[in-house]
Amino acid sequence: MAFPLEVNGEQMQEMGHAAVDFIANFVDGLDAGPADGRSADSYPRKELLRIQDESASDFGTLLKLFKAAAGLAVETAGPRFAAYIPGGGLFASALAEFLARSVNRFTGHPDMAPELVAMEHGVLQWLCREFRMPDTAGGLITTGGSMATLSAVVAARSQRLGENFADGTIYTTDYTHHCVRKAARIAGFPAARVRYVPTTKDLRMDPQKAHELIAQDRSAGLRPFFLVASAGTTDTGTVDPIDDLAQLAAREGLWFHVDAAYGGFFQLTQRGRALLSGIELADSIVLDPHKGMFLPYGTGILLVRNTDLLQAAHADDGNYMQDRQRDQGLPDFSELGPELTRDFRGLRMWLPLRLHGAGAFREALDEKLDLAAHAYGVLVEDDRLELPWKPDLSTVAFRLNGGDYDANCRLLERINATNRLFLSSTTIDGRFTLRLCILSHRTHRRHVDEMLDIIQSAARKE
Ligand SMILES: *Cc1c(COP(=O)(O)O)cnc(C)c1O
Repeated sequence: MAFPLEVNGEQMQEMGHAAVDFIANFVDGLDAGPADGRSADSYPRKELLRIQDESASDFGTLLKLFKAAAGLAVETAGPRFAAYIPGGGLFASALAEFLARSVNRFTGHPDMAPELVAMEHGVLQWLCREFRMPDTAGGLITTGGSMATLSAVVAARSQRLGENFADGTIYTTDYTHHCVRKAARIAGFPAARVRYVPTTKDLRMDPQKAHELIAQDRSAGLRPFFLVASAGTTDTGTVDPIDDLAQLAAREGLWFHVDAAYGGFFQLTQRGRALLSGIELADSIVLDPHKGMFLPYGTGILLVRNTDLLQAAHADDGNYMQDRQRDQGLPDFSELGPELTRDFRGLRMWLPLRLHGAGAFREALDEKLDLAAHAYGVLVEDDRLELPWKPDLSTVAFRLNGGDYDANCRLLERINATNRLFLSSTTIDGRFTLRLCILSHRTHRRHVDEMLDIIQSAARKE
């Protein structure tokens, strides 16, 4: 017999308990588990692809299938994941999702569930205060940094360029995240309108060179309108000279965007605030709570200096929406981004912030800065390795001293083959460079010490 669509209370309890048992075991096992659970003989995929018409599966069987499929993966939730940009995935946030989705409220407009919209608004206002933005500031919780960047580009385009915008130019560097280029393309800009400002030896945008490129473009009849500073590049965690670039953008009349998807939450720490100084002058800031707030994947944030500009670029209406009430005190999220119906994204931040307190996040982020400084301090002493850039944040870039592309590629393979940590790489100036990015809330000193041992002994084998 098929399982009914509306399950009863007893069935819910049974499934809920089984799910929570699985999660508790899963999280318990993360420390001892492998860094990479993928294997050559993967699960019979046929079984996972099959959707039956007459359901005969019980929840326990399906949970086992999910567990097997989830296990055959890089352990992105565990303490040994230091590739790309980790985050971990807070249980409280996952639980918030379960709650939010179970009540299934509509939060696209403020009138259907005003108090829930207020919770989301409260989280965004708290962030605006942390970034010292003015009272006109507001924001939007998106599914990630890429979507938030798209809305920033669209808001700037519509305010600065109007409807005929193909001559508008955007200023980035070789180390700007590719989501800016992607957003520009989706927003309708020809590829050549994304400009690359030369960087200084320490991989930061050179404000003088930016100034020259802007002047050159302007005299060629183009309309410079969007300057991007990275508050932590994905490659090396390098922070651009935000203050200088903010002033340049103001002088030149450009929209000043800060991509803080990786580094933004370090603003919650004293050291981070000093490093990101000038970010309060941004017209828009992109943040990724699924990185620096350790949330599960799927949450980005756009903060804008003037909410009206975001609204002017995105708001629209339909006859079938004539019943909705405006609420002067609360934002209408459907008018600030591309989505109408959306999941209630506020609780996934509100619950962890209220449950653990913002201070718990400040401490955890401070710990990550310490861990990266420690890792750099150890690796820089190893003369088999070369560490050209002292980390600004929590990413340590390194390569073999004198090693060529292939040798460094082999080094990464040897490190990851231990299955005790998982790293990724990038290419800088044509050279293969490994990166250790410490950001998971589950990664602590003992994990980092083991990682350093592994890296050093792998380097000895070349
Ligand atoms: C991760 C990242 C992005 C993209 O964000 P998604 O959430 O993956 O879409 C943009 N910029 C930087 C600096 C990032 O690290």
